[in-house]
Amino acid sequence: MVLDNLGSSLRGSLDKLRGKSRLDEEDVQEIVKEIQRSLLSADVDVSLVMDLSDSIKTRALEEEPPGGTNARDHVLKIVYEELVGLIGESTEIPLESQTIMLAGLQGSGKTTTSAKMAWWFSKKGLRPAVIQTDTFRPGAYDQAKQMCERAEVDFYGDPDCDDPVQIAREGLEATEDADIHIVDTAGRHALEDDLIAEIEEIESVVQPDLNLLVLDAAIGQGAKDQAQQFDESIGIGGVVITKLDGTAKGGGALTAVNETDSSIAFLGMGETVQDIERFEPNGFISRLLG
Ligand code: GDP
Repeated sequence: MVLDNLGSSLRGSLDKLRGKSRLDEEDVQEIVKEIQRSLLSADVDVSLVMDLSDSIKTRALEEEPPGGTNARDHVLKIVYEELVGLIGESTEIPLESQTIMLAGLQGSGKTTTSAKMAWWFSKKGLRPAVIQTDTFRPGAYDQAKQMCERAEVDFYGDPDCDDPVQIAREGLEATEDADIHIVDTAGRHALEDDLIAEIEEIESVVQPDLNLLVLDAAIGQGAKDQAQQFDESIGIGGVVITKLDGTAKGGGALTAVNETDSSIAFLGMGETVQDIERFEPNGFISRLLG
């Protein structure tokens, strides 16, 4: 089966179809309603949920289940395919030299993610370095340095310099032996003009191969504005969802993926450097529907 760990009410509705070989309108309505309920409570954008419901409804009623497939498995397959169509496969991360820049609001988990990603690349046999350009948040330097020590990866930052662009430039030179450069940037509490101006300047110096937008799993409907603004200013190639070890389901990431026409790269599953996973659609979709 494509999806496991479904929420109990959705599973209940699906299980009612077990003996059936065909779906009628009422069956489909009930299932779509359950799916809508799950997705909305997982913070998926309302208009995305509506579009998805329409496609599921149409396909479930129009498409013939392939021979030997019962109605339950047929509808589950459609739900899965439609969600994968929206979320996509994980962002491609080639295991070769590259520069990755992280963007996002303060507290989203950028600094933690930069060290986690460095740890992940080091386990793949590459030599990563983290460059900490967040001069805005007190403590960002110490936090990044400590986490990089724990991850046993190279680190560059300068607590005495308040110019992130200079730190970025010097950091790239100081870590030129590394294969992977992960550039952490400052966030703000909200999307302010100076945040955007700063990250654009850093981007022009760093010239990243990939910009990742870091989002807290609890972001909800606020994901849209952030995704739009960062995508317009630097171009977003992928999304990282953090704090998925909590109760939030990360549905806001779908909005970001949709807005930026990108995909999800990594998931943050805790506070330590090892708590990082590559995105994988099956588990994430089960969680959204759970
Ligand atoms: P930044 O301001 O974007 O750099 O955010 P930080 O990396 O400092 O993270 C903000 C807070 O969230 C810190 O207390 C982190 O320990 C915590 N955090 C980051 N990622 C995760 C995660 O995946 N799970 C949990 N539980 N906490 C996280």
